[in-house]
Amino acid sequence: MAKYILEYLWLDGYEPVANLRGKTQIKEFASFPKLEELPWWGFDGSSTRQAEGKSSDCMLKPVAVYPDVARGENCAIVMCEVYMPDKKTPHPSNSRANIPDDPGAWFGFEQEYFLYKHGRPLGFPCGQNNFPYPQGLYYTGVGYDAVGSVAREIVDTHLKLCLAAGINHEGINAEVAKGQWEFQIFGKGSKNAADQMWVARYLLMRLCEKYEVDVNWHCKPLGGDVDWNGSGMHSNFSTQHMREVGGKAYFEALMAAFDKYKNEHIAVYGPDNHLRLTGLHETQSIDKFNYGIANRGASVRVPHSFVDNDYKGYLEDRRPNSQGDPYKIAGRILQTIATVPTK
Ligand code: ADP
Ligand code: MN
Ligand code: MN
Ligand code: MN
Repeated sequence: MAKYILEYLWLDGYEPVANLRGKTQIKEFASFPKLEELPWWGFDGSSTRQAEGKSSDCMLKPVAVYPDVARGENCAIVMCEVYMPDKKTPHPSNSRANIPDDPGAWFGFEQEYFLYKHGRPLGFPCGQNNFPYPQGLYYTGVGYDAVGSVAREIVDTHLKLCLAAGINHEGINAEVAKGQWEFQIFGKGSKNAADQMWVARYLLMRLCEKYEVDVNWHCKPLGGDVDWNGSGMHSNFSTQHMREVGGKAYFEALMAAFDKYKNEHIAVYGPDNHLRLTGLHETQSIDKFNYGIANRGASVRVPHSFVDNDYKGYLEDRRPNSQGDPYKIAGRILQTIATVPTK
């Protein structure tokens, strides 16, 4: 038997955006613990906006486990759902519990974010009115002028930490604004990519602590009226039916359902999205729904491959923003898909 250091992670009760919380416990296992071997745990919900002080216990149910190599040998990250003390009722903040189970659902999330230092994007010159060059050379850029001196070390280390944790990190790019980056996560199963995304966010935030850098997840941190891009979390999705049967009629029915429920989607696609979905900067306006082939100004982008393949494959919902909860996003997309008969 060996002692394992386990970091239990969960989402707190803050609105409109939950924060990651974590605490450590030590347990003995013969080898790296399987999910079934990990015990439930509890925490003080009165400190996380999840309970009243007089009845403050909340329960943590392990739902996914990842090796935590950055921390050292025999260390694990345990992603958890929050339950009421009866261990049967999901806590109201538990957005994962509402995702329909569907092993045939696949999601790919493209997470954009800014690295921040001293309240400004990393690499912005100091001083009130100092701005770097306008957007143009930052996207996929190279050189100190474009990406600064530590950002690449951070994003690269993060990539390797994710891979070591078994997270399906698919790639990185420097984004359109200075200090802005993206990574992509893909997973099969309705909850898998979202679990991985929360743990990838955790690893990035924890890594940045030692650089005294913050991750700014807000969708328009530089404001609505200046010409800097906002951050999204484009959500690519497919079900087994979409990949294997598809067809133009099914696709059109699906898009009609997405139009019908557009407000319900926007409600869980992250706060302040009206600042980002303006119709500019490769977005559609927040109150409109449309789709388009290879159209980056559409709400849903239809890849060329989808049309070429008899309307089979995946679609990209471009509306979710960088601060959105991937559990809520995946849950809403699957709920809307479920309203469309596959006949
Ligand atoms: P872009 O920046 O052009 O929108 P990216 O390469 O950043 O594209 O992201 C595309 C995403 O689509 C990736 O996360 C990838 O995993 C995901 N993806 C690819 N195929 C599927 C599929 N069949 N179902 C769901 N997601 C998919
Ligand atoms: Mn991308
Ligand atoms: Mn991008
Ligand atoms: Mn995209």
